[in-house]
Amino acid sequence: MTSARPFNFSAGPATLPEPVLRQVAAEMLDWHGSGMSVMEMSHRGKEFISIAEAAERDLRELLSVPEGFRVLFMQGGGLGENAIVPMNLSRGGKVDVVVTGSWSRKSAAEARRYANVQIAAEGNGREIPRDWRLRDDAAYVHVCSNETIDGVEFHDLPHLTHGVPLVIDCSSHLLSRPIDWSRVGLAFGGAQKNIGPAGLTLVFVREELLGHALDICPSAFNYATVAAAHSMFNTPPTFAIYVAGLVFQWARQFEYAGKRGLAALEQRNIDKAGLLYSALDASGFYENRVDLACRSRMNVPFFLQDEALNETFLAEAKAAGLLQLKGHKTVGGMRASIYNAMPLEGVQALVGFLKDFEARHG
Ligand SMILES: *Cc1c(COP(=O)(O)O)cnc(C)c1O
Repeated sequence: MTSARPFNFSAGPATLPEPVLRQVAAEMLDWHGSGMSVMEMSHRGKEFISIAEAAERDLRELLSVPEGFRVLFMQGGGLGENAIVPMNLSRGGKVDVVVTGSWSRKSAAEARRYANVQIAAEGNGREIPRDWRLRDDAAYVHVCSNETIDGVEFHDLPHLTHGVPLVIDCSSHLLSRPIDWSRVGLAFGGAQKNIGPAGLTLVFVREELLGHALDICPSAFNYATVAAAHSMFNTPPTFAIYVAGLVFQWARQFEYAGKRGLAALEQRNIDKAGLLYSALDASGFYENRVDLACRSRMNVPFFLQDEALNETFLAEAKAAGLLQLKGHKTVGGMRASIYNAMPLEGVQALVGFLKDFEARHG
């Protein structure tokens, strides 16, 4: 399907698959003959229960989530989880955090309010640091598996061998590639990067980690309570779950390069990122500064050699139908977020614009 809409490179809330937006529009006033919008339904009615069950089933299928994991539909976002995880898992003890960029640094700072936090290693925002100092008696090790702001991604999850569970904040690359669950104790992600509207937070947690929340943990954020109530302890973000469910259906049907589903999405993400990084590297005009081994497939920060051209670049990009390329305020420069819903044509258009802009201003 060709689209007249501009290409949207926002880091989040981010672009969604156009067929999903169209379906949401078509079903807005009357979902499947129910006479109700999904926004108007009881979360305990049979209509919404069927939506939520299908969403969980499709998500589990897409990511091959093993039996021993519970999938929770929560609220509070990634930043909420920075507190909710230590309240549920730390038992007030030790937590080791590997800092690879802005988000893991924030996670460490928040966890300090509930636990004895040690920075196990700290990178410079362009690399995954080596030589982690890990404590055998830590409750868990936290990493951000894709640093949205810095553009640093773990292409292999760390294989911890000291018997301590790994927690990953995978907000910005969830559903862009498979997850090696054998290495994970808990994974969380806000939906608004790659999955659906803001307001929904996904948590995947091993059953054996449930049941140790601190007393101060709000019941609505106690994983054991939420799991026992099948994410209906309180009203979940129903509309966001519905849209995410449609994204999961879209993802399951997605075809690319002879592949289907998550494998097809991953292949297209590899191709999109390859195209963009090649264009940046081939130019002396633009620069991405992240270590080759951990460049993110989802978030590509880059700089113009002449920063005085930044505003012109953004204005011309917008006029060319390429939206929200401004880098995060803490990093500056530009950032192209190329999540699942960004078509190959969007990255081709961006690469064409990069060359054209360089030809005119370089
Ligand atoms: C966006 C993001 C967050 C914060 O999510 P909120 O929903 O704004 O709380 C946390 N971690 C990562 C990696 C993110 O990309």
